[in-house]
Amino acid sequence: MSTHAEVAFSFVVGRRSACPATVRVSERFSVRFLSGILPIFLTACHAHSARPSQGKLWEEFSGEKAFAHVQHLIDLGPRPPASDAIEKSRDYIDNQLRLSGWQVARQSFTDNTPRGKVGFVNLIARFHGQGNATVSFLLCSHYDTKTFDTIRFVGANDGGSSTGLLLELARVLGQHPNLAAQIELVFFDGEEAYENFSGSDGLYGSRYFARQLEGKGAKQFRGGILFDMVGDRSLDITLPLGSPAQMAHDIFTSADALKLRSYFSYFDREITDDHTPLNSIGIPTLDIIDFDFAWWHTAGDTIDKVSAESLQIVGAVAAYYLAEFALK
Ligand SMILES: [Zn+2]
Repeated sequence: MSTHAEVAFSFVVGRRSACPATVRVSERFSVRFLSGILPIFLTACHAHSARPSQGKLWEEFSGEKAFAHVQHLIDLGPRPPASDAIEKSRDYIDNQLRLSGWQVARQSFTDNTPRGKVGFVNLIARFHGQGNATVSFLLCSHYDTKTFDTIRFVGANDGGSSTGLLLELARVLGQHPNLAAQIELVFFDGEEAYENFSGSDGLYGSRYFARQLEGKGAKQFRGGILFDMVGDRSLDITLPLGSPAQMAHDIFTSADALKLRSYFSYFDREITDDHTPLNSIGIPTLDIIDFDFAWWHTAGDTIDKVSAESLQIVGAVAAYYLAEFALK
């Protein structure tokens, strides 16, 4: 991900221990949310008791299972667009989704890049046997890894973690067909820029997906969540400033209800990522991202930097949010 954030990131990481900007922002929001949280939580509890029980979706999410998916992807090596390894990762994602009851379509396209024409493939999944009419919410991750000529980059956190988390979330949702029927899962190819993020480099998959959906198709979706870099063993989820306000609010409330609020704060500025093209076509999409990651776009983004516990935290909060706020 990036542009604005690439600049911001060196600032935050350079002061990893103090992290003044992020701390200031999160403290400010903590105060604001604490004052508003009790009535909202009571409302959420009331709403939950008034509807048929879904079971506790968030207790079914397994950080260990998500981590095993990440390990499997990493074992394939670097997975840049149009490589043999990314094709193997597509087969893996496809198989895992089918095992959980999802039907997978491949959205293939070519685009001009700084390295010439490249073929990309988004994977789009809907729950088996569900009609189009019920689908209203997007859950997304990118599964490509950034192309590097000089380092071996396996993207355990950047590309791997969110894909593993989304596969596990797909399994959990698959146990609840009434919820799964409302979801479209999208695994984006080509999130990473070859050079620098711009209107024509980076976000290849999400820009193409959004172009296909623009207009009537976009109206079908009430919202979406993008997951990116959610496995850092030192977890600090940093929602971009400018995130859809109600969604961010409800994520904080979900985290608070699970006593995981301390892992969630705001970043101190916007972040350009795969949620950007979706928001541009009118689908409010939240980027759940930890942009405080010292190994970002380095050879050190390896499996030892990722933990099952962090995946568990993000997965549980997302599942709580889906069950209590996003889905009916
Ligand atoms: Zn990246």
